[in-house]
Amino acid sequence: MHNEFDLVARHFYRPTPQTRLGPGDDGALLCPAPGMELAVTSDMLVCGVHFLPDADPGNLGWKTLAVNLSDLAAMGAKARWALLAMSLPAADEDWLAAFSEGFYACARTFGVDLVGGDTTRGALSLCVTALGEVPAGEALCRDRAQAGDDLWLSGHPGLAALGLRHLQGEIVLPEPLCRLCLHRLHAPAPRLALGERLRLIAHAAIDISDGLMADAGHIAERSGLTAEIFLHRLPRLPQGVEQAVAREALLCGGDDYELAFTASPRQRPALARIAAQLDIPLWRVGQMRADAATPSARLLDSEGKIVPLVKQGYDHFHAPFSGASPFSLAKE
Ligand code: ADP
Ligand code: MG
Repeated sequence: MHNEFDLVARHFYRPTPQTRLGPGDDGALLCPAPGMELAVTSDMLVCGVHFLPDADPGNLGWKTLAVNLSDLAAMGAKARWALLAMSLPAADEDWLAAFSEGFYACARTFGVDLVGGDTTRGALSLCVTALGEVPAGEALCRDRAQAGDDLWLSGHPGLAALGLRHLQGEIVLPEPLCRLCLHRLHAPAPRLALGERLRLIAHAAIDISDGLMADAGHIAERSGLTAEIFLHRLPRLPQGVEQAVAREALLCGGDDYELAFTASPRQRPALARIAAQLDIPLWRVGQMRADAATPSARLLDSEGKIVPLVKQGYDHFHAPFSGASPFSLAKE
């Protein structure tokens, strides 16, 4: 018979080299470096809302941690620790072994120690709390964008949303695009290296979990500005899929965990160097403006006319909810 304590110990007690005291006691003991602030974030993944019941457990383990590390990236923090609270319908050894492999693969890749958590019986849901360090006063926040800032975007967001639509049978992606999109969906790579390099360069940052328009809108609202995004400055769209569909995925699809950030135009050379050094495309997609009647993000064509959008991004409470059916991987 499985005992809860053995089960947890078997799958989630691995060495925690950068931690004073890891899992196994009543609490963990963490020792932040002098002069550093802790950045702390939690994200929950619920079966039927964020993933399907038959989701591959290895992918799910990776993703559960990765989406949390993405929030640390958006704060410019170095990821260090995580806690994992899970409720599980059954003690399924094979499932747990695969889940923990995926989780630890992500933890190893980004230098994170799993230092504790909680395990109970119940409907499958997974909640990670991630902690990172950032030099005092240097964290990137959503509310520090300044009028006149450039608005930047990393990578190729939209691919994960295309992968999801493919899985849901709404579109058919050709290979090799299909494989790429599914990889982005299942195994997103949080932009931690980029986030750290953006300290003292970017004014504001956010990770794109709900779509570029929605997340740029969050920076705009919190900073009391308008984010203007130019259609002609968006990243190249992938070939092999209807361009309108690809554009909607880019503007409104979440789940890629790229970063959007603002910086003074003076930082363009520094950002070009960072893009080259990290080998990450950085796109200057727009600008922040002060003339905000209602602070928000808007899309403009090359003549400066507003391009209307049907939806801005995924909103858990806006979408109708009927149990497990409104499956979306968008992260709250
Ligand atoms: P308590 O009842 O004192 O909270 P638990 O039995 O919940 O103790 O947990 C025992 C130890 O196992 C704690 O150190 C806790 O952090 C750790 N732990 C429990 N579940 C997990 C998990 N899913 N991942 C990592 N550590 C866990
Ligand atoms: Mg407990």
